[in-house]
Amino acid sequence: MRPEEEDRLLEKIRHLLESGLKTQTEPFPETHIEFARILDELRALPQEDLRAKLVIGGFTHTPYGPDQMRCLECMYYLVHRKWCDLPELAVPVEPDWWCRLWRI
Ligand code: SF4
Repeated sequence: MRPEEEDRLLEKIRHLLESGLKTQTEPFPETHIEFARILDELRALPQEDLRAKLVIGGFTHTPYGPDQMRCLECMYYLVHRKWCDLPELAVPVEPDWWCRLWRI
């Protein structure tokens, strides 16, 4: 994806989240099996279904929970590209966003 396409996609995601899209932030996957189940759900989506990806991923446009978890501390976050490198997501994200696939 070209940088300008990534910028456009980032703005689209921002708009969806700021408009109040209800996403499945819970339950947070506590085990590998639960984590893998969410990845399976994401893989089953049509490639272009961005909204469903955000919903199933449980995206928020703010830090999340009492620990204020953020993409910035997640092992999948590419800081310089502002990108989520988890293949099932593969979307641009801001450092202070979050989703329930968060891992350190
Ligand atoms: S997996 Fe979720 S928390 Fe981690 S970088 Fe990707 S979107 Fe952010």
